[in-house]
Amino acid sequence: MLTKDQTYYTVNNLTAESALQKLKEGNERYVLDHVEHPHEGAQHRVDISKGQHPFAIILGCADSRVVPELIFDQGVGDLFMLRVAGHIADDAVIASIEFAVEHLGTRLVIVLGHERCGAVMAAIAHVFSEGKLNSLISYIEPAVKAGQEIKGDVITNTAKAHVNLIVETIKTTEPILSHEVKNGTLKIIPAYYRLATGNVDFL
Ligand SMILES: [Zn+2]
Repeated sequence: MLTKDQTYYTVNNLTAESALQKLKEGNERYVLDHVEHPHEGAQHRVDISKGQHPFAIILGCADSRVVPELIFDQGVGDLFMLRVAGHIADDAVIASIEFAVEHLGTRLVIVLGHERCGAVMAAIAHVFSEGKLNSLISYIEPAVKAGQEIKGDVITNTAKAHVNLIVETIKTTEPILSHEVKNGTLKIIPAYYRLATGNVDFL
């Protein structure tokens, strides 16, 4: 049996709106090259060693150019991070989000797509492999269909459609996440990162 000190139950108390504002301000600092690199260093490690209370959950891509702690100018313990190629929402990802929402009190989820996503491009090109890539791509295929129905650049449209579909998947996952969304206690927001400018568009 764990003592209270050994558990993770230190709850974040920022609302989704305040959390989103912090992310927007951090991204603005990043774009303008005025970063603060908050919450780093030895004393901060000690301060948060007894429990984490991340104010936002970010589901982002494994792409090496899309690093949420940097692009939102946040530090250690600020963001509950899920990174997987194509920011798909499989059971392990959903379970991780449920954990942060239920046990850490985090009230905001950002699904962060980005320009020139290799996983999205592989899905559009129907690149298949003998390994596990097919199963990952199957999570992006609904967006490929949706992206083809919109005028304009097929890669951008597919990437944005994919972000929106993943948001819908998370929102409608019963019973925990759908309930929190219906209650207004959890917000799930799509976003899209631009590689060269560093700008995050909240969709
Ligand atoms: Zn990607």
